[in-house]
Amino acid sequence: MRPFNKSTPPKIIEDNWIDWGIEYAKKRIESNHSHEFRWASVNSKPVNQHILQDLLADTDSHCSYCDFSPLRGSSEKSIDHFKPKSIEKFYLDVCKWENLYIACTFCQGAKKDSYNDLLLRPDEVEYNFYRYFFYDAETHEIEVNRHCTDDDKLRAITTIMIFQMNHPDQTDSRRISYLHYYSTLESGTKPDIDLYSHRFIFE
Ligand SMILES: [Zn+2]
Repeated sequence: MRPFNKSTPPKIIEDNWIDWGIEYAKKRIESNHSHEFRWASVNSKPVNQHILQDLLADTDSHCSYCDFSPLRGSSEKSIDHFKPKSIEKFYLDVCKWENLYIACTFCQGAKKDSYNDLLLRPDEVEYNFYRYFFYDAETHEIEVNRHCTDDDKLRAITTIMIFQMNHPDQTDSRRISYLHYYSTLESGTKPDIDLYSHRFIFE
């Protein structure tokens, strides 16, 4: 997970997120929690399509969680609700800007409806990768930084588990990115870091 600053909410979200949250909460409760979330439509276009470019701009079109890039196609440019929309206490946050992150298919599938207050966010103040984690350049696994505080360790473990950061698909992806980056560097060319997935391993 690479830190980034979340931009201010697009106007369409700022103007409507509270009303859309209330509407969604009402429908969920009235339907005994079976109502499925759907983005509202504004000017004949669903809201997720209105805000996609803003979310992508914040992460330079990388996944907010694993930093995979490039995200291709609509399924890889899906919007994750950090606090899951299926959990009643988060119904009102369903369209809150701070709750929306662009995520790759893997991270969406790994996280699903999981949530824990200890889960790290990439735009959290004072978040940086090496405060919580250690990158093993041989196994390409992400480990807990053994020098961090006990509280930070708990947060790191929770985040590794929920995002399945050491799933073979993720370690393979990081290995490919790592080897390509360093072979480019060794050939005398300065790699353009933004073209690589998992940029935090080079920083
Ligand atoms: Zn991802």
